[in-house]
Amino acid sequence: MNRRQTSLEARIATLKQAIVRLGDLRPGKLSRQYNVCGKAGCRCKADPPQKHGPYYQLSFTRSGKSSTQFVRKEDLAVVRQQLRNYQRLRELIDRWITFWMELSQLKLQQPSDRSRAVSPKRSHAQRVGKRR
Ligand SMILES: [Zn+2]
Repeated sequence: MNRRQTSLEARIATLKQAIVRLGDLRPGKLSRQYNVCGKAGCRCKADPPQKHGPYYQLSFTRSGKSSTQFVRKEDLAVVRQQLRNYQRLRELIDRWITFWMELSQLKLQQPSDRSRAVSPKRSHAQRVGKRR
């Protein structure tokens, strides 16, 4: 096993641990809203209006379907942390895929593994291309 491959495997193992340790998560975007009610003479219809709120709403798309959820003020901190963990998951997975793409290709080029048909010329060109 070459050094690059060992290094990639170590990075992948580290990322895997980071993914396992992630806490609660959810996708979405928080927004803040102010509403007007239906009550006559309410302060939300005064001049200038004092609208009700803020209300917090979480918008997300799952399987092509967009939804929103009301978030209570006392849950804001927890929900924000869940959203950050989701962003972190996306970053980790993105790096994971990048490392795996390189590692998977290196595994195809193992000289000891002759069962996979990689032409010597192409294999050599790719090895040279990886060198920095
Ligand atoms: Zn009102």
